[in-house]
Amino acid sequence: MATKPARLTVQVAIVGGGPAGLTAAIALAEAGVATALIARPIVPDHRTTALLAGSVTALDTLGAWARCRPNAAPLKTMRIVDNTGRLIRAPEVSFAAGEIGLEAFGHNIENRHLLAALEARAGEFAQLTRVDGEAREIETTSDAVVVHLASGTSIEARLLIGADGRRSMCRAAAGIETDSSRYDQVALTFNLRHTRPHQNISTEFHTGGGPFTLVPLPHERSSLVCVTNPDDAGQLGTLDDASLAEEIERRSHSILGKISIEPGRGVYPLAVETARQFARNRIALIGEAGHAMPPIGAQGLNLGLRDAATIGEMVVGAQRNGGDPGAPGLMARYDDARRADVKSRTFVVDFINRTLLSDFLPVQGARGLGLYLIDRIGPLRRTVMREGVGPAASQPRLMRGEVL
Ligand SMILES: Cc1cc2nc3c(=O)[nH]c(=O)nc-3n(C[C@H](O)[C@H](O)[C@H](O)COP(=O)(O)OP(=O)(O)OC[C@H]3O[C@@H](n4cnc5c(N)ncnc54)[C@H](O)[C@@H]3O)c2cc1C
Repeated sequence: MATKPARLTVQVAIVGGGPAGLTAAIALAEAGVATALIARPIVPDHRTTALLAGSVTALDTLGAWARCRPNAAPLKTMRIVDNTGRLIRAPEVSFAAGEIGLEAFGHNIENRHLLAALEARAGEFAQLTRVDGEAREIETTSDAVVVHLASGTSIEARLLIGADGRRSMCRAAAGIETDSSRYDQVALTFNLRHTRPHQNISTEFHTGGGPFTLVPLPHERSSLVCVTNPDDAGQLGTLDDASLAEEIERRSHSILGKISIEPGRGVYPLAVETARQFARNRIALIGEAGHAMPPIGAQGLNLGLRDAATIGEMVVGAQRNGGDPGAPGLMARYDDARRADVKSRTFVVDFINRTLLSDFLPVQGARGLGLYLIDRIGPLRRTVMREGVGPAASQPRLMRGEVL
């Protein structure tokens, strides 16, 4: 990677060095687009990400997966267990990747390993200039965007990709509003060691407070995402490691045997937030800058990587045709291309979460019947599995293993 001058002109600037921003930077640089990545230092967390099959294919196509693979566990079976204890309960449902011809639905990896792999790959391109620091101000004109950093450096680009997370300043600079709603729930996260093998099965216990999901990691380890109400999370938070391990073993019905808790607990308030437009005024949003949702069904970053792949594909196409990567037509096409995927997944995740929280019997009945039908009707079951892994109708090229 080149070193930074005080004023830099590139085709595309990206704000945000999280997984979505890094993936977009790699995709563009690999296709020869002059790109600048403006990134604050990463604050390490102990979360993991279940990357679904299309995301794994995309990272492989971009040359980043080989560095992830040793630290990732395949997810071969997804199991849903109704643990609500309510009058109407859904049947236990298991989905095997082999039923839709896949070896695994995806792979689960700790975010620190994913980010390290992406950073290492990003460091291999002369076309990619990494500018460490904080974007402070964004100016848009009819033919360019200028990002001013706290350090005094300015970067001018034809297109700005906003990969700067939930409180996106790029989104604000584009004049894009969001629709949002909060839940009275948080996600408590940490990783565990256990004495029984997970057999590459991810288990989602549906509880009245939200899903409690154990996701395999390599060896006898798993990550836990426990969605619950803030009081319960507060109580769990007061427990020392040994007491917490006992409580988690109880809640998971000892399916993983004896548990020990690894250092690094996280608490994330849950909300749905969707940008009303995904691109405007030469600024395109990817990842959580465009959409945030509860961690149910591993959709968040998988959507974010499809955003990165889609904008990458459009920009590379424009560059090859001598076009402008920030032109209003391209902004409108990107907005259109991402709308159905983001909206449909946000709807499903929100619906599942709300039906779990509802004490209204007909709602619980509908949820139970839905899972029963999915379990019993083969074609429906396979359609749900395929759709869960990625949108059959519109997978970007990188997700199909095609270079840009
Ligand atoms: C508990 C939990 C579990 C999850 N599990 C999964 C899962 O299994 N599968 C899945 O697909 N998704 C999952 N998600 C969602 C996933 O974590 C997010 O979608 C993903 O982290 C978003 O990545 P991002 O790159 O868009 O944003 P971020 O990771 O938030 O990165 C944004 C970056 O921009 C930087 N930034 C912000 N402003 C500026 C600025 N002004 N200047 C410079 N830099 C800036 C930030 O410092 C940050 O580094 C989960 C989420 C939670 C909360």
